[in-house]
Order: sequence, then C-alpha cells, then structure tokens
Amino acid sequence: MGNRLDVFKAAINEITDYGHITALLGWDMQVNMPAGGAEDRSDQISSMERLMHMKITSPETVQLMGEMREYAKTIDPDSDDARLIKVSLREFDKLAKVPTRWVAEFSKETSQAHMVWEKAKRSSNFSIFQSSLERIVTLRREYASFFAPYEHVYDPLLDGFEPGLKTAEVQAIFNALRPQQVALIKAIGQKPQVDDGFLTRPYAEKAQWDFGVEVVSKFGYDWEHGRQDKAMHPFTTSFGLGDVRITTRFDPAHGASGLFSTMHEGGHALYEQGPDRRFRRTPLANGASMAIHESQSRMYENLVGRSLPFWKHFYSRFQQLFPSELGNVDLMTFYKGINKVEPSLIRVEADEATYNLHIMLRLELEIALMEGSLEVKDLPDAWNARMSDYLGVTPPDDAHGVLQDVHWSSGYIGYFPTYALGNLVSAQLWEVMQQQMPDLDAQIERGEFSNLLAWLRTNIHTHGAKYEPQELLQKVTGSKIDPQPYVRYLTGKYSAIYGL
Ligand code: ZN
Repeated sequence: MGNRLDVFKAAINEITDYGHITALLGWDMQVNMPAGGAEDRSDQISSMERLMHMKITSPETVQLMGEMREYAKTIDPDSDDARLIKVSLREFDKLAKVPTRWVAEFSKETSQAHMVWEKAKRSSNFSIFQSSLERIVTLRREYASFFAPYEHVYDPLLDGFEPGLKTAEVQAIFNALRPQQVALIKAIGQKPQVDDGFLTRPYAEKAQWDFGVEVVSKFGYDWEHGRQDKAMHPFTTSFGLGDVRITTRFDPAHGASGLFSTMHEGGHALYEQGPDRRFRRTPLANGASMAIHESQSRMYENLVGRSLPFWKHFYSRFQQLFPSELGNVDLMTFYKGINKVEPSLIRVEADEATYNLHIMLRLELEIALMEGSLEVKDLPDAWNARMSDYLGVTPPDDAHGVLQDVHWSSGYIGYFPTYALGNLVSAQLWEVMQQQMPDLDAQIERGEFSNLLAWLRTNIHTHGAKYEPQELLQKVTGSKIDPQPYVRYLTGKYSAIYGL
C-alpha cells in the first residue's frame, strides 16, 4: 500500500497547490488589481476551480480515495496518515453527495443575490432582497437534505465551518451564556459611562501602520514568510506555510481601528504560520475550524490587545506617536475608552460584552429559517424584536438591522456562530495558559510575547487541522467548548472598569 499512499499524497499536494494559486489570485484581486481586471480575474478563478474539481472527481482520484478509505481502517486512527485521509475524504464525500446541478444553481443564485443585497442595503429596503433570500434558504434546505439523515437540519450547514459540531451543542452553549451576558450588560448600563471621545479623532495612518507592524512583530509574526497590505475588508490569506499574508484598513472615524484590525489578522496569521512542516501542501496545514481560528485572532486583538498589561507596556510609545490626540489622555482613561460597553445596532462595531448577543440572534433566526418555523418575509420583524429583547435597541431601518451583514447573500448560513464560539474558546485557552504560566500578565507588561506564542504553537498551531475542534479543545483544556471562562473573563474585566 506504501506506493499507493504516495500516489494519494501527490494528488493531495497538487489539489492543495490549486487552492493556494486560487487564493493568490483572490489576494491580488482585493489588494492590487485595477477595477478593470474584474471580468478576466473571475474567469481565471473559475477556471482554477474547475481544474481542481476535475482533479478531485477524476476516475483515478475516485479509485485512490476508495483504496485509502480501506487502508485507513488498518492503521492507527490518530496517525498523520489516517488523519490526512479522514480530512481529505470529508471534502471528497461532500463533493460526491452534492449534485453538480445544485452547485451551479447555488453559485448563480448567490452571485446575483450579492448585487441585490447591496441594492437593498443602499435603499434600506428588505423587500428588494426578500425573494433572493427565499431562494437561498430553499437551496440551503435542499443542501441539508443531501446529508440526511441528520439530527438537525442545521447540522450539515454548521459542519461546513465547524467539523463535527452539532446544532444541539451550540444551542446548549448559547442558552447557558445568554442570560449571563444579558445580566452583565444590564449591570454595566446602570453605571456611569466611560469616555471614549478621544478615539474619534483622526489618527495618522502612517503612525498607526508603523505601530501595528511593531506590535505584530513582537507577537512573533514572521515577515520572512509574510507581508501586510491595505484592503477594503481586512483578511488573512495563506499560499502555504511559507507565505501567510495579512491586510488591514484605517477608518478615520475610529481612531485606533487600524491597530486592532492588524492585531486581529496577526492572530490569524500566527496560526497559519504555525502548523508542523510535515503537513506542508496538505489540508492538515490549516486551522482546525473557523471557531478555533477566530479564537486566535480574538485572543491577540482582545485578551492581549485590549488588556491593561499590554497598554502598560505600550501606551507611552503610542502616546508619543499621537501627541495631539492622546497627549492629555492618561493610561486608565485610554484603557477604559477602548473597552467601552454600549449596546449598539451594528455587529462589527460591537464591544466584547455585547458582541455575542448579535451572534445569538442570528443563530436563532437561521435555525428558525432552516426549520421552516420562520418565513423570510417575517425576518425583519423577528430581527427587530430580538434586538430590543437582548440589547435594548431597535434598528431605525433595515440597513441598520436585518440587512447589515453580507453573509446571507453569499449563501453563508451556519457561519455566524463561529464568531461567538471563537470568543468563548479564546477565554477558555487563556485560563489554562494562566494556570500553566502564572506570570503571563507580567510577561505581557514587559512586552514579552514569546512564551505566549510558544504555548499556542505547542498546543494549538502545530496540530493544524489534524484534530476536530471539540477534540482539540478536549485535549488541551480537558473539556469541550465551555462558555463559563468567557463569562468569568468579562465579569472580571468589566467589574474593574465599571466598578460593578
Ligand atoms: Zn477573524
């Protein structure tokens, strides 16, 4: 079988290369490409995707996959080879179960829906988007049916982002979390608000850029194998273990937003640079899931980047860069300002305490749509009712409510929960880290980040996608995804800031 295993690995290497080439085309499209290149580029990307699809569904690959399925049963299920076969077969089986007709229809529908959604959002009118979304929901239900029998109709969608995670698990996590987060936000709301007026001053881009570079360099981002550029919507992308790139953006209305964006993407990039080199050119050289990925970015952005020890180290330097904006703002005022809690309408601008409620609302609506207990036409009312229930704010119009996110127009149903789960995982890992490195805060205050990264490398990054998310967490923390560490983290942090 040795020889056939090598043939299989060579095929996997080639398919992985196609994926990285496509990612490079996408990076260039978002970072450098002149607007006039759009038509040619989209042809090029779809040609690459077709090439990859042909390779995966070719008779040789189908034959190989069948042989590997049998071979995997004869070896240690925790070995690299068994896991590579398992992860590859997951993708392969999905392709085999979903008819080409559905893929074409879905791709056509979502590319049109994107433009319709933009128009609906611009005119703040959900009814423009309604019939597109109805077709997407119908297509998504059909997609789920290809994976029947399932425990819950939402399971096959969730599985696309969180391998192995079940809807019932996510519901149990969120049900435990929601009342505690709502109570915390209420308690904060009864205290005097902190000042963050200094954040709305225009911070010079160049100084923000330089400071961001300095910070992610200290975090351990490897510039020999990466670079940073500007992009409209910040993202991290990888063309293999040797080339992992980040992007950032600057918003003149939100002073330090470029810095936090750089730290967030830096967290993703450290993860992508971290898998063991023996996984090179395979799907194991990836993150374990979206939630585990988001746990890394949120950790660097929030648990590190919005912490007091971090700013005790960096604030005087930051103040020097922005003397007119921050000259008369002391450390504690700055620290409190970047951690201000305020229920608001827009998810992407939400603070750490309110963010997860935006996600829970979306998850509940997605599940109801998939189950058929909610009709698309009733979505705006259902959205507004929950916003008022959970956050105490009511959107003035659809653009600030149900139309704010791009995800549904792209057909992404099942994606949102990974953002909140990432927050929970970040705090869960942090607690274990603090037990094992009791002076972690002191290290951060000294500007030392190497032990933090070494811990993440050993426990999370090096494994790449070898383990499923719940399995990985169980190994590292002794339990599956647990909301309590995040509740403890928020309560501790905001008790100090707001004097609860
Ligand atoms: Zn992210």
